[in-house]
Amino acid sequence: MLTFPDLHGARFGHINLDVLARAHAHFRDAALVPQLIKQKVVTNPLLDPHLCHEMIQEAHAHLGIDHSYGGWFEDRRVLWKDSYLEKGQHWIHLGVDFNVPAKTRVVATWKATVELVDDDTPMIGGWGPRVILRLKDDPDLILIFAHLGEVSCKAGDKVKPGDTLATVGSPPHNGMWFPHLHVQAVDLKHYKRDWTHLVQELDGYANPFAASHAATIFPDPMRYMRLWE
Ligand SMILES: [Zn+2]
Repeated sequence: MLTFPDLHGARFGHINLDVLARAHAHFRDAALVPQLIKQKVVTNPLLDPHLCHEMIQEAHAHLGIDHSYGGWFEDRRVLWKDSYLEKGQHWIHLGVDFNVPAKTRVVATWKATVELVDDDTPMIGGWGPRVILRLKDDPDLILIFAHLGEVSCKAGDKVKPGDTLATVGSPPHNGMWFPHLHVQAVDLKHYKRDWTHLVQELDGYANPFAASHAATIFPDPMRYMRLWE
């Protein structure tokens, strides 16, 4: 059972979005710096989700892949410069992003209970529609699926492999991000202690100085995802 059954046979490749952003910034600045200084434009154009999406599509074409994934503990200080993450220097991405088209169906590949379904739209830089699951075979872990479109499950539902959870969302209703699925694993003990009653406080980014501690709380979710048969 694949996480994105409708993308069966598509070519997936690993991608580092901050490396892409650095290359993008280099070309952009080479062409535009004198103009930007003149206009006092200091904001990061990649904060426009459409431009960011375009950059990722160009990378896919260049790499000869259809879709991409990656980003666990990636430092994204160039990609998200000037964003809400700047204040706390929260540059370390705690989940894995799957750069697949908006409306792609997301399916469960394990048995789980839906712990929570929520939506912080219209928050910019938020989770958008989000599904939080507790895995049956790995009960010490919570799995978060975020930046969703249409959600097909509700809290308390038991899901099994093949059940549709949701579709991938798009801006502005997905937290104002480029279309992608963010998946983040959270250690259950920490989730219960720190976030059960404060689930809006749980974020997808951390400060680099907290990264080694964060790695024990937010393990790599890739082993719960199935991109290939
Ligand atoms: Zn993400």
